[in-house]
Amino acid sequence: MIVPGEVAAEEPGAWVPLRGLLSFLDAAEEGIAPLLFHAMGIAEWQWATRHCPRCGGSLESRAAGHELRCTECGKTQFPRTDPAVIMLITDGPSGTPEERCLLGRHPMWPAGRFSTLAGFCEPGETLEDTVRREVQEETGVVVGQVDYFGNQPWPLPASLMLGFTGRAVRAEIVLEDDDVEDARWFSRAEMAEQARSGELVLPGGVSISRSLVEHWYGEALPGSW
Ligand SMILES: [Zn+2]
Repeated sequence: MIVPGEVAAEEPGAWVPLRGLLSFLDAAEEGIAPLLFHAMGIAEWQWATRHCPRCGGSLESRAAGHELRCTECGKTQFPRTDPAVIMLITDGPSGTPEERCLLGRHPMWPAGRFSTLAGFCEPGETLEDTVRREVQEETGVVVGQVDYFGNQPWPLPASLMLGFTGRAVRAEIVLEDDDVEDARWFSRAEMAEQARSGELVLPGGVSISRSLVEHWYGEALPGSW
């Protein structure tokens, strides 16, 4: 899985898809983002949850939409959040010009767009193992050390994106996953040069993906989705 971005609407006052709003959050009033994310998550959960999972009975909304109670067996459901990981994998001596980071691209994306890899946590799996499994499935790269970076709510429909950094122990790229059309190692110099020329287009400013890339790079980079 790679988290898709959306292009912001060009015209003021125009309707945009919900995902398109994320592009405006950088400039929005402080405190708006958590409210918006909460509302999006609740609305999506209400829309997608139609019947009781235990008996198939009909549901009534309670607690201002934060609970759905079965009218037949009484089982109460609560909004769920699915953990997903997003990770910047590096290779080579840390902090040197030889150090590189791994980015991939989805086949549906416009030319030049690359992002950090991401994927959902499976039942019984630690987050660190999710990072290692997803990177290997999507790129063939084998990851050793994994460290927590930060997180971002992603209620589209119900994820919490948990950001990690990881170190490759085998850097060879083998592409076998349909979700990833291309994956490449970028040195800081290559990243800067290609971001400036527009050959490489990185994720938008509000995303944890952007934060991971710029934290590794060491400063802000030009251009975004
Ligand atoms: Zn029920």
